[in-house]
Amino acid sequence: MKQTKSYLAKTVEDLKPSGIRKFFDLAAGMEGVISLGVGEPDFVTSWSAREAAILSLEQGYTSYTANAGLLELRNEVSSYMKKQFHVDYNPKSEIIITVGASQALDIALRAILDPGDEVIVIEPSFVSYAPLVSLAGGKPVAVQATEEYDFKIQTHQLEKAVTDRTKAIMLCSPNNPTGTMLGENELIELATFIEKHDLLVLSDEIYAELAYDEPYVSFAAIEGMRHRTILINGFSKGFAMTGWRLGFVCANEELTAAMLKIHQYAMMCAPTMAQYAALEALKGGREDVEDMKKSYRRRRNYFVQSLNDIGLSCHIPGGAFYAFPSIVSTGLSSEQFAEQLLIEEKVAVVPGNVFGISGEGHIRCSYASSMEHLQEAVKRIKRFVEK
Ligand code: PMP
Repeated sequence: MKQTKSYLAKTVEDLKPSGIRKFFDLAAGMEGVISLGVGEPDFVTSWSAREAAILSLEQGYTSYTANAGLLELRNEVSSYMKKQFHVDYNPKSEIIITVGASQALDIALRAILDPGDEVIVIEPSFVSYAPLVSLAGGKPVAVQATEEYDFKIQTHQLEKAVTDRTKAIMLCSPNNPTGTMLGENELIELATFIEKHDLLVLSDEIYAELAYDEPYVSFAAIEGMRHRTILINGFSKGFAMTGWRLGFVCANEELTAAMLKIHQYAMMCAPTMAQYAALEALKGGREDVEDMKKSYRRRRNYFVQSLNDIGLSCHIPGGAFYAFPSIVSTGLSSEQFAEQLLIEEKVAVVPGNVFGISGEGHIRCSYASSMEHLQEAVKRIKRFVEK
């Protein structure tokens, strides 16, 4: 019998592919391209972490771990979170080791959303949030953070977006794509709003290690917010471990038990050798993390200053490794700018519109690239803008 209908789920059919992909594909077919497009560290994972994974294989540790992850690793994560970010989670009942922060986001949303529940997504936003909300049966509600306020969302904007179906808000600080980091007072203001409307916060703290100007404050550390926070973090960015696919999620016992149900049926556990690598990354001291941070900070200062000198105005991003300059002065849309810059000068950046409405008029440049590449990119962007 002939196929007479689509077998695809409507929610999946309706999802648009990520706008970032198109530029990767275009750039991949060209030679001599300097890519400021990808959102990942340019460092290799520390040797001691890699060695720990090799050793785990040599010792034959190739079976599943506990669903929530190796207890030894959860213990380390718990101490790390306490020491670095002043939040206290029980390793036995409040931490799950996940397949990247990505899976943590997925199980967090699936654990809390009933069909039609709304989740506020602050744009410009990491491209996965809205699709993950939809896939979990929820409805993403976009609110626009703007350059005028350094891409920090204002409470009056959130007040307009909240309804009696709103269950949670996605928070990402330091932010992808803008690099904006919220300070303690701004988090306290947000906490007042969260309390008033009885909401949860999915706090994506994957860039917490990369905070350059002020100490990082976790949303869960704000008074009264621990039980309203699902804290998502991981090893990809701060520990340069993107390919290992390892993250974690911390929340109160009730939320953790709900997430663990999904995790154990859908994933069993995170990859065992990657868990051994992460264990060593945490135990091995902070030298590598601090060195990488210093290096990103140096590059941020150079790159953001250079963009402003060229005439592409750019606020100073407090964290992560992205600059998000305005390209409005060129008269081009962000897609036109990115496409023409790639074709004419072979520099790959991501057009801001892929991150949401308020991303238009901007481009995202990752400065996790060598200083030589950044210098050459600046030269090329300058030539392009002057044309
Ligand atoms: N959240 C944000 C804001 C990100 O930028 C990324 C990676 N680009 C992730 C989550 C996913 O990280 P992971 O590699 O841990 O899945």
